[in-house]
Amino acid sequence: MSVIARPGDSGLATQTDGFAIVVEGLRKRYGSLVAVDGISFRVKEREIFGLLGPNGAGKTTTVEILEGLRSADDGQALVGGIDVRRDPHKVKNVIGVQLQSSAFFDGLNLLELLDLFAALYKRSIDAMAILKKVDLSEKARAKVSTLSGGQKQRFSVATALVNEPKILFLDEPTTGLDPQARRNLWELAQSIRAEGRTIVLTTHYMDEAQTLCDRVAIMDHGKILAMEPPDALIQRLLDKGFKGERLERSANLEDVFLDMTGHGLRES
Ligand code: ATP
Repeated sequence: MSVIARPGDSGLATQTDGFAIVVEGLRKRYGSLVAVDGISFRVKEREIFGLLGPNGAGKTTTVEILEGLRSADDGQALVGGIDVRRDPHKVKNVIGVQLQSSAFFDGLNLLELLDLFAALYKRSIDAMAILKKVDLSEKARAKVSTLSGGQKQRFSVATALVNEPKILFLDEPTTGLDPQARRNLWELAQSIRAEGRTIVLTTHYMDEAQTLCDRVAIMDHGKILAMEPPDALIQRLLDKGFKGERLERSANLEDVFLDMTGHGLRES
């Protein structure tokens, strides 16, 4: 029996209050492979929620079901109050999805691309204001192919912001970026959350998850093994008597790198 409240359902409505995403018993198979094995979780509004796990754990499948891009076999998912399985197209009105920069048509500059996205969403936007938000106003008339890796990632976040989404999905947004560019992207994610949006982040970088996420779910073999704030998970491990092999120092090589090359944006 489902316990998910749908907006307007009497009695159960309070169960989804304050939650951007509610997932119950979600399941997906590819032939005999169970990629997502009956998972349940909730993401609070304005939360940065991390989905972690080794390759093949089922993160992308889960996220793409929530984005309305793949169909689930069983279970329920409400995203921004929309029942994704019932209304997969409607969910696109409330979510922002980052596209890989290789997907962008290079005949247009950044402003023109944002305007094109806005036209697809039937929205009128201030494209320059969006570029400013992601620190790319100086590149407004540049083509995507001329941007650095960090700039491309920030531009892909910009395209995901065009429809003013309530919920933003960031899929490994800092893979391949240098330390400054990663930190710039972290700041961007935090500023997007400060605007009242919810972020679902998949990442293989544990330092990124620890810095950004209010809570993380750790997935493996299609199941959620744990779901808590990073500090609580670390404390639980320490309480079990875990002793790291690392000799803790008050600085690491990344600090040296940042100290020498600066924390600011690299435009080259
Ligand atoms: P990664 O960290 O590598 O991105 P992931 O946690 O996102 O991994 P998924 O991409 O969701 O994992 O894959 C979960 C499992 O489902 C894997 O075993 C994968 O091989 C399988 N899988 C994913 N997509 C398909 C598909 N379209 N057809 C068949 N099997 C698939």
